[in-house]
Amino acid sequence: MSILIRANALSKSYGQLKVIDNVSVEIEAGKLIAIVGPSGAGKSTLLNLLGSLDKPDSGEVFFEGVSYKSLSEKKLAELKNRNIGFVFQFHHLLPEFTAVENVAIPAMIAGTSRKKAEELAENLLDKVGMAHRLSHKPSELSGGEQQRVAIARALINSPKIVMADEPTGNLDSKNAGQISQLFQDLCSELGITFLIVTHNDNLAALASRVISLRDGKIV
Ligand code: ADP
Ligand code: MG
Repeated sequence: MSILIRANALSKSYGQLKVIDNVSVEIEAGKLIAIVGPSGAGKSTLLNLLGSLDKPDSGEVFFEGVSYKSLSEKKLAELKNRNIGFVFQFHHLLPEFTAVENVAIPAMIAGTSRKKAEELAENLLDKVGMAHRLSHKPSELSGGEQQRVAIARALINSPKIVMADEPTGNLDSKNAGQISQLFQDLCSELGITFLIVTHNDNLAALASRVISLRDGKIV
């Protein structure tokens, strides 16, 4: 079993508040892993540290054995763009662009031609069940559809891991169930790791491993 991300004794405080308290964890490649815990437990903070969106006060995170700390800002941005896809609770799609364009943009940023990027985007939108909504803008899509587009966007650069922070938190239970199933299908089909912060019991039940966080510690 190969380890994709290894975190060593991470701590992070905001003022007096210790939000992440000496957390060490390994994220295996190819698995669907859920992070659960009450609101304020430090789930988002931990995910951001593991995804290099935030820096710990102490401790270290290694991605395939390479410490984020050892990389320049530029190298770190490259590693992130190439290897990590992010999905948030609110989709963060660009309102003035179509579904295809929203999905294609990260590939174009990574240097893929517009034509190739849009081809890839169409294939991924098909995979997430959105082939019939390619030219719709975010405001013309339902919440579940917007989240599907955001998932396709997270996959466009063939990342090794997709990190999602409460991706079903804004959806009704039917759509939440469908999106949870989609994560599991994509995980087995693409062999990509999915690390998902969730309050959704169904999504946690589909995970091959559940990490429980409470008061900044793994319990
Ligand atoms: P969770 O995602 O589990 O709900 P978070 O990781 O978002 O928890 O936050 C953990 C704790 O840290 C919360 O008490 C929150 O209020 C606090 N916190 C998060 N971000 C900041 C920040 N930028 N400044 C101050 N406190 C913060
Ligand atoms: Mg959170």
